[in-house]
Amino acid sequence: MADTPPYLDLYQREMGRQRPHHGYLVGSGAPLALDFATYFVKGLNCLDPRGVQPCGQCYCCLREYMAIRHIEPEKGQITIDDIREGSDFLESTSVDGNFRYKALIIEQAEKMTSSDAVNRVQENALLKTLEEPPEGSILFLLSDVPSFFLPTVRSRLAYIHFQPLILEEYRRHLMDLQFSENEIQLLLKVADTSCTSRDDLQFIVQAVALARGILAGTLDESSMQYLMDNADQWQRILRVFHVYFRDALVFVETGKYDKVYKILPCSPYRIIETLQDIAKIRRILSTTHSSPKFQMLSLLSKRRCRIA
Ligand SMILES: [Zn+2]
Repeated sequence: MADTPPYLDLYQREMGRQRPHHGYLVGSGAPLALDFATYFVKGLNCLDPRGVQPCGQCYCCLREYMAIRHIEPEKGQITIDDIREGSDFLESTSVDGNFRYKALIIEQAEKMTSSDAVNRVQENALLKTLEEPPEGSILFLLSDVPSFFLPTVRSRLAYIHFQPLILEEYRRHLMDLQFSENEIQLLLKVADTSCTSRDDLQFIVQAVALARGILAGTLDESSMQYLMDNADQWQRILRVFHVYFRDALVFVETGKYDKVYKILPCSPYRIIETLQDIAKIRRILSTTHSSPKFQMLSLLSKRRCRIA
């Protein structure tokens, strides 16, 4: 019996292609991403597949490791030598002829940093492989920071991610933090558009706490201080405010006002007004000519927050 992986839909979709992509960028969901990549290559090589799933018993299934090379950062870095070695593996013809596909899987691929940050030698070495991919080769870049990679690299990779499972993990995390179900729903919506890692979720939880404080006029001194100390983060914080308030309004419009009221103790009108103020500060932040601090302070004072 072939076992059923949690990413079966995605797997079947990719197996359904005439031929697989030469490269995949798997953003987020690291343990599952690695599992997916391995399973996918196994499925492609299986000599006796059950439907599209690998049998787990044939010559290739039992020796799946022969078709896969792994790279992961050592001492926090993936070096140009690692990449060259990996590319050589993809280009070599010495792999057992029973395998139709071979794969290079690079974990935490954003660790391809070097002192030569401008030339980004590792990525450029990979680019050569991606431009002229050896027959039957597949490259997997696994990374929680898909935006790290050069556009020229990204454009040659098919992007997949495991968002639902990440959100499930966030949900558990938020439950641990004693958030109510209504709050979790709102936070997850914000996280869905803004999170790429668990650190981001912490940031969003903090930003949302600020947003609620501003709206309710109950921002305490330490929160105020945090806001003033992190002026370089305002663009991100305001983005979270924006998504959060907008989703709160959607709740209002879909008749779930009771839910929102429990979360945001204020009128929808006040939410709209605050959203407009937020839009204004965001506009100002993207230009260089006026004072975002003045605008932020004025937003805070309008909301009757005490200014430290
Ligand atoms: Zn098999």
